[in-house]
Amino acid sequence: MPNNHSGILFVLSGPSGAGKGTVCKALMERIPDMCLSVSVTTRSPRPGEQHGINYFFHTREQFEEMIRNDELLEWAQVFDNYYGTPRSFVESKLAEGYDVLLEIDIQGAMQVKQTYPEGVFIFLIPPSATELEARILGRGTETDESFRMRFGAARHELQMMKEYNYVVVNDVVDAACQRIESIITAEHCSVSRNLYLLSEW
Ligand code: ADP
Ligand code: 5GP
Repeated sequence: MPNNHSGILFVLSGPSGAGKGTVCKALMERIPDMCLSVSVTTRSPRPGEQHGINYFFHTREQFEEMIRNDELLEWAQVFDNYYGTPRSFVESKLAEGYDVLLEIDIQGAMQVKQTYPEGVFIFLIPPSATELEARILGRGTETDESFRMRFGAARHELQMMKEYNYVVVNDVVDAACQRIESIITAEHCSVSRNLYLLSEW
């Protein structure tokens, strides 16, 4: 439930194919009050993806206009396309007391860490490199070249795990969601986020 206090910003990153989209979708079904930020991207929609649901699909010109107008909380170029987080949605939901979830790449997460050091940064990893390869190929959405780019980036990206607060292995979707829900509960109980209780006494 929203409350009188600011919500918590949760950021989920990890290599392409780790299961971020799958886990986020499952989390949104399990936590009705969590607000998922819909990103803006210049990449083309994949079959089944809808404007405003999966992404806001914009042209490069529209995206650059959003950068100029300071409408993005963070943005990055990922695999030849721009991706960014609309600022107003995140700021207003947090101010209303709702938790907000961002599913963004590592470059974007590091920018958010500068602006929201009190955010919670979660790194999602697949159980193994073999499983990662199987998942990217199994999704059936990549060309040979984009598969190579995504799989090739994973080793370097894994090193960035050290910059995050938590790591979650996505072996089974349900189990990964349970771990993330435990993190959310723990963060809501942290002393630093509950010092207001003292003044209420
Ligand atoms: P990402 O958003 O990190 O790129 P996706 O959510 O698109 O990854 O998942 C990549 C593929 O792996 C999809 O086909 C998805 O159904 C599958 N997948 C995700 N999580 C699991 C899991 N725990 N076990 C098996 N397959 C999974
Ligand atoms: P995909 O094209 O597979 O949907 O996403 C490619 C990458 O872009 C993923 O790592 C995803 O987390 C990241 N991404 C999605 N939205 C955003 C965003 O708003 N900002 C940033 N920095 N990365 C994003």
